[in-house]
Amino acid sequence: MTESTTRRPLVSGNWKMHMNHFEALKLVQELSYQVTRDDVDAVDISVHPPFTDIRTVQTALESDRIPFFLGAQHCHFETSGAFTGEVAPSMLAKLGVVYVIAGHSERRELFGESDEMVNAKVKAIIANGMTPILCVGETLEEREAGDAESKVSGQLKACLAKVKSTEVGSIVIAYEPIWAIGTGKTASVEDAQAMCAFVRQTVAEMFGADAANEVRIQYGGSVKPVNAAELLTQPDIDGALVGGAALEAESFARIVQYRLHDA
Ligand code: PEP
Repeated sequence: MTESTTRRPLVSGNWKMHMNHFEALKLVQELSYQVTRDDVDAVDISVHPPFTDIRTVQTALESDRIPFFLGAQHCHFETSGAFTGEVAPSMLAKLGVVYVIAGHSERRELFGESDEMVNAKVKAIIANGMTPILCVGETLEEREAGDAESKVSGQLKACLAKVKSTEVGSIVIAYEPIWAIGTGKTASVEDAQAMCAFVRQTVAEMFGADAANEVRIQYGGSVKPVNAAELLTQPDIDGALVGGAALEAESFARIVQYRLHDA
């Protein structure tokens, strides 16, 4: 839909429930050796370790001056309280977390997160000075039934309800077709671009052209070094949310370096 040269790409590594804190330290250090100054000048990079690793990764990023953004995979929407096992947004903000994934399909499917809960999280993340990476996407059945757009626009409307239009431009939306996550199946470049353009158009209808032009839209779903360049050079794709390929420094670095490879 909208082409802009001002949106900085964001490549985010979602480590899911992998890596203890020793392994996390090793991975972030290896990654820092592979990523160059030119890479970080061109692309924002965030790493999203499990909660138990965040303090370790924070310390490594700060002490070694590694220019990656610290991320989290999830948080609760309440400020504090009797929510055993949960982590408050303010706790993440205190650790220097910048990006928090909200509404990943694994959280929705395996842990029963509703659009309403995701909406509350998005607002709580913003209220605590961090940036949500809001995940939306359809199942294979929904795509085959021709319902992909209505599913995604419904998620956007519900998950961004009562978010201020002045805030929407600085959030990140990850379009992740559920059937492509962790399966090795990637959406075709044409389908990925078309859905990211549709996300931008929906944001324009909800919040206006400025917000739509500013909002960064990532594609996620089996992004690998081999397909990163063609996906990430599409006009409405502003980066990638990467799962499996983010667990190995070389493959994640090669995705970050997509602009050096042929599309
Ligand atoms: C994800 O975790 O959001 C993801 C897209 O995983 P993968 O890259 O492994 O498909």
